[in-house]
Amino acid sequence: MAIQADSRGRFGQFGGQYIPETLMNAIIELDEAYKRYKDDPQFNRELEVLFNEYANRPSRLYYAGKMTEDLGGAKIYFKREDLNFTGAHKINNVLGQALLARKMGKTRLIAETGAGQHGVATATAAAYFGMECVVFMGKTDTERQALNVYKMKLLGATVVPVTSGTATLKDAVSEAFREWTSRIEDTHYCLGSVMGPHPFPTIVRDFQAVISRESRAQILEMEGRLPDAVLACVGGGSNAIGSFYHYIDDSDVQLIGCEAAGRGIDTFETAATISTGRLGIFHGMKSLFCQNEYGQIAPVYSISAGLDYPGIGPEHAYLNDIGRAQYVPVTDEEAVQAFEYTSAVEGIIPAIESSHAIAHAMKIAPGMDRDRILVVTVSGRGDKDCAAIARYRGINIAE
Ligand SMILES: *Cc1c(COP(=O)(O)O)cnc(C)c1O
Repeated sequence: MAIQADSRGRFGQFGGQYIPETLMNAIIELDEAYKRYKDDPQFNRELEVLFNEYANRPSRLYYAGKMTEDLGGAKIYFKREDLNFTGAHKINNVLGQALLARKMGKTRLIAETGAGQHGVATATAAAYFGMECVVFMGKTDTERQALNVYKMKLLGATVVPVTSGTATLKDAVSEAFREWTSRIEDTHYCLGSVMGPHPFPTIVRDFQAVISRESRAQILEMEGRLPDAVLACVGGGSNAIGSFYHYIDDSDVQLIGCEAAGRGIDTFETAATISTGRLGIFHGMKSLFCQNEYGQIAPVYSISAGLDYPGIGPEHAYLNDIGRAQYVPVTDEEAVQAFEYTSAVEGIIPAIESSHAIAHAMKIAPGMDRDRILVVTVSGRGDKDCAAIARYRGINIAE
């Protein structure tokens, strides 16, 4: 079904396991445990209860009727991951991994975080399961995201500021891998997106695939047919792959990933990996990465902290290679306009990450017939972004 990694964990030429010998045991243990539990009815029953009772699933498929009328073209539906407990799609992945870690007998979760969203989600799952939790976060990010640091501590997690490199997300990932290497007996590394060495891209995708499992059934129920296109924003790519997964075999459904172009793909201030990246190996996988002329990982920029990662998951790189999915750049300005428009017209404040996908829907919907259908994943809610967007517009409000 759909696309699966081969026996060496590759999607075409992408993916794999580029890791030090010292991490191999942990990866093998995880791979074997996941193979054992992924189709286990008991495991899946427990996960479904968690999704429904704790995370507030299924999430709504909402007809954005006012936007549709106003734009005058294709019908726009929102897959409302913003209504999940903790306010984004990240909870799907962390509940799955935390449950898996428990089955493996692990008592401690570690995670990396950039803006703090994945760290807060992991700390939430750890609190729920009564597990110890340590979150690695670039020191620069801990200063920029003091509220999320406070939340993680409130939830009982320890936050470790990382000072190596640029003291941001990519350095936090490296540090989490290092910590995992030195303590695999009781620790699971709860990775935050569809990246890293196999089997992480598969595990995270499978837990996020609940998004398209639901949306496919919901649109069939509401419209009696599949959508013409599914759109989602892409950082590492977890909400996008989850939004695409159950449509991959439906070749008439266009899959569109929306990357953060920042100030534009012809500037150095961008995070659009498919548009500007090159083949490389980093964080345990072969994929596309934003690199400088010497092949070093380049600093990336986007107004949206959640899309600020210099790489993309290997399955996306593959979907792009074979032409099954299409990836488009969306600038800060376009995303901010979509953020403001969706708030004013639909009464929904979307995450600035999700606003990248909405912006592209706003671009293509008017040119499509009224009987066409777009499903856009609203990966999270925008409360967290209000101060930053106000600042972008020259207004200073206290955070
Ligand atoms: C973290 C985050 C993203 C980016 O992560 P993906 O793995 O690309 O999905 C997108 N939207 C929101 C709301 C986020 O919190």
